[in-house]
Amino acid sequence: MTSPDTRSLLTDAAARAIAYLESLDTRPVYPADDAVRRLRAALDAPLPDGPADDADVVSFVDGLGAPATVANAGGRYFGFVTGGALPATVAVNWLAGAWDQNGFSVVSSPAVAAFEDAALQWLKQVLHLPAESAGALVTGATMANFTSLAAARHRVLADAGWDVERRGLFGAPEVTVIVGAEAHATLFKVLGLLGLGRERVVTVPADDQGRMRADAVPDIAGPAILCLQAGNVNSGAFDPAADIIPRARRQGAWVHVDGAFGLWARASHTRADLAAGYEGADSWAGDCHKWLNVPYDSGVAIVRDGAALQAAMSISGAYLIASRQRDAIDVTPDSSRRARALEVWAALKSLGRSGLADLVDRNCRQAAALAGRLNDAGVEILNDVVLNQVVAAFGDEERTDRVIANLQHAGEAWAGGTTWRGRKAMRISVSSWATTDADLDRVFDAILAAWRQA
Ligand SMILES: *Cc1c(COP(=O)(O)O)cnc(C)c1O
Repeated sequence: MTSPDTRSLLTDAAARAIAYLESLDTRPVYPADDAVRRLRAALDAPLPDGPADDADVVSFVDGLGAPATVANAGGRYFGFVTGGALPATVAVNWLAGAWDQNGFSVVSSPAVAAFEDAALQWLKQVLHLPAESAGALVTGATMANFTSLAAARHRVLADAGWDVERRGLFGAPEVTVIVGAEAHATLFKVLGLLGLGRERVVTVPADDQGRMRADAVPDIAGPAILCLQAGNVNSGAFDPAADIIPRARRQGAWVHVDGAFGLWARASHTRADLAAGYEGADSWAGDCHKWLNVPYDSGVAIVRDGAALQAAMSISGAYLIASRQRDAIDVTPDSSRRARALEVWAALKSLGRSGLADLVDRNCRQAAALAGRLNDAGVEILNDVVLNQVVAAFGDEERTDRVIANLQHAGEAWAGGTTWRGRKAMRISVSSWATTDADLDRVFDAILAAWRQA
């Protein structure tokens, strides 16, 4: 099917992508305003009446798009707990693009279904979660929370004699939803999507690191869902799972864990104790595009009660032949979907248990070292640096804002702003396989330069 033109088009695209990756060490971590302006100006064009040369299409994207990118794939991007993409995962992502598989079922793509089964087994093993759990590969932690909480909603209402998939929430028994004061914003979005209400929640106060206070968790009765967090997006702290989960489950609650990035601590040598006790929960949401370092978009929901997940997600249709194997369409919110299992499998295959542990441990060590050096230089570190997150303040609010802006503008590194316990701060998330200790030196120097300049 490939003509010589197609071959040269794809070879050229690969060469351009490789050149991009090789430029990461020297390109600005955040694009200059005029690179973005040039791209927008070029895109401000009418829909073409006729075809264009494919080579020109690729050349446009690379020539105008690449300079406007955020160098998220490099080692000095510390915004939003993102992580990069491991080489093997980028490579299989290219193959998956060429394969163009539709991963909704075993019939639609036997190969993707096989990779998905294997990837989910390995994920449960590396995260030390119950082997009998069901799982779903989805777009990210938001949808992993959604998928998990749809299963939770099914189970707690089914136990109360209500079939929520058939009848909806109109007239249903009340469901108590308990969250921590520091729950992630996307969790509230998910509660809204599920009809459980963004604000109709019981909020448990947090301690000074953002952890749910175990002593403040109320007694639970009736249909109830308790949402814990493994990894606070500012401090990196973990809700005290071992103190909360056994009692909540004894009282009949479904316990869900939003562990977008923190769940990966369970794969580490040095930080696993932070995430101890979470295996006792009912469902877990994780992000593979964060610390597993696969390309976007990629998250995972793991659900102990596979029947509840299936009840929440399965569909029937005349053209769908029920198979005895696992069909993704019956356990995910999606129908047609991309082959993200390949990248998850490739990450775990290329790293192995020890490689993933080393990656998490290295990033945590780097975060602690950077926090220590900043602290020694007089920067105020606002959190206990237990994981990969550093929250730093540079004097008053205006000064801190200026340091963040200076750092972002200089292009040597990128970290975002946050508000932590009422204070304006810089948030530094170390979660990329690509971050070297030399990168950390450059970041340290860049932060101090930005501070002096402010
Ligand atoms: C990143 C994150 C999310 C949202 O994940 P997406 O992949 O952006 O959907 C949810 N919860 C926590 C704790 C996160 O860190």
